[in-house]
Amino acid sequence: MLFPAMQDPKQILRIKRTLLAIAGGAVHTFLCWVFLEWNFFRATPWEFFQMFGFFWLVHLSFPVLMLLGINQRFKDPSLTLYQMAWATICIMVTLYFIYDLRMVVLMYYLLVMIFGAYRLRLKDFLIISAIAIAGYGLVILAMVYNQAEIVNLRVEYVQWLCFSVVMSSFALLGSNLSALRRKYRKQSVLLSQAMEQISHLVETDELTGLWNRRHVMRFLKGQKALAERGGYGFSICYLDLDHFKEVNDRYGHHWGDVVLQTTSRTMGDLLREIDCLARFGGEEFLAVLPLANQAAALSVGQRLLEKVRLMEFEDTLSGLRVTLSMGIAEFIPGETVDHLLHRADQAMYQAKNQGRNQMVVAGPQ
Ligand code: GH3
Ligand code: MG
Ligand code: MG
Repeated sequence: MLFPAMQDPKQILRIKRTLLAIAGGAVHTFLCWVFLEWNFFRATPWEFFQMFGFFWLVHLSFPVLMLLGINQRFKDPSLTLYQMAWATICIMVTLYFIYDLRMVVLMYYLLVMIFGAYRLRLKDFLIISAIAIAGYGLVILAMVYNQAEIVNLRVEYVQWLCFSVVMSSFALLGSNLSALRRKYRKQSVLLSQAMEQISHLVETDELTGLWNRRHVMRFLKGQKALAERGGYGFSICYLDLDHFKEVNDRYGHHWGDVVLQTTSRTMGDLLREIDCLARFGGEEFLAVLPLANQAAALSVGQRLLEKVRLMEFEDTLSGLRVTLSMGIAEFIPGETVDHLLHRADQAMYQAKNQGRNQMVVAGPQ
C-alpha cells in the first residue's frame, strides 16, 4: 500500500478532520480575496498571492504529514494545537492588511475556536487564546506605527479588549466542552464493557456457570452455517442425569444443586476449549463438539460417561453414584437445528429405555 498509515481508521478520521479545517482556511482565503477585490485589503495581488501561498504551504503540510504517518510520533497525533496555532497566526497576519472590516474576520476566527472545542484541553486553549490576543495586540501596535493617520486608537483598544474577553470566555467554555466530550467517551467505553458483561450473563447458567440454552442455540446455528459451507462437520451429545429426581428426594434440593454443579465441572474439565457445554434445562445438558465426526463424538461420550460415573462426593453426598444417559448425533448438512436436537433427544431416550448409564448413536431420522 502506498500510505501504510492510512490502514488505521483513526488516521483516516484525523485526515478528514484536517481537511475540514483546511476548508475553513479556504473560506478565510476567499474572504480576504473579496476584500482585496473591493479594496479593503491593503496589498497588491502579487503580495496577496505570496502571502497566501505561504499560508497554504503550511496548511497542506498537515494532511501530508498524516498521509506519511509522521503525525503519529507526536503526543497528540491529530496535531490540533499546531493546526489551530497556524490558523490563528494566518488570521492575525491578515488583520493587519484589512481596513474597516477587521471585525468580520475576527468573528470568523471564532469558528476556528469551535473546531478546537472538540479536542483541546484548557492549557492548549489558553495557549491559542494568548496567541490570538497577543497577535491582535501586535497588529494594533504595527498599525499605530505604520498607518497612524487612519487608526483610531481608542476604537482599536476597545475592540481588542472585547476580543480578549470573548477569547478568554471561549477558552473556558471550549475546554469545558472538550472535558465533557472526554467524559462522555470514557462513559461510553464503560457502557460497552458493561454491555459485554451483561450479554455474557444473559448467556450463562447461574447455577452451574455453563452456557445456557440461549447461547448453545446460537452456537448451534453458527456451526450449522459453517458445516453447510462444506468440509466441516460437528456432533452433539444430549445428556440427561439418571434418576435425578431421587437425588433430590433423598438429599434435598440443595444437594441436588451441588450434584448438578459438580457434574458440570467434571464434564467441562474433560471437553476441549472449542467445545460448547451448556445446561439445556433442569438436569439436561448439551455438548456441541465442533470438528468431531460420529466416531470422535463416541469417544468423547465414552469418556464423559466414565468420568461422571466415577465422580466422588463428600459430606452428605458421600457414596452417591451419578450416571448419565446420552444421545449422540452427527450433523447432517441440510437438516435443521431442531431436527438435529430431536434426533439426539430420541437417542437419549433410547439409552434410558435400554437401562440408562449408556449412550446411543442417533439414526438419520
Ligand atoms: P430419568 O432417569 O428418567 O431422567 O429420571 P429423572 O428423575 O432424572 O427425570 P425427571 O425428569 O423425572 O426428573 C428431573 C428432576 O430434575 C426433577 C427436578 O426436580 C430436578 N431438577 C431440575 N432442575 C433442577 C435444579 O435446578 N436443581 C435441582 N436440585 N433439581 C432440579
Ligand atoms: Mg430430564
Ligand atoms: Mg433425568
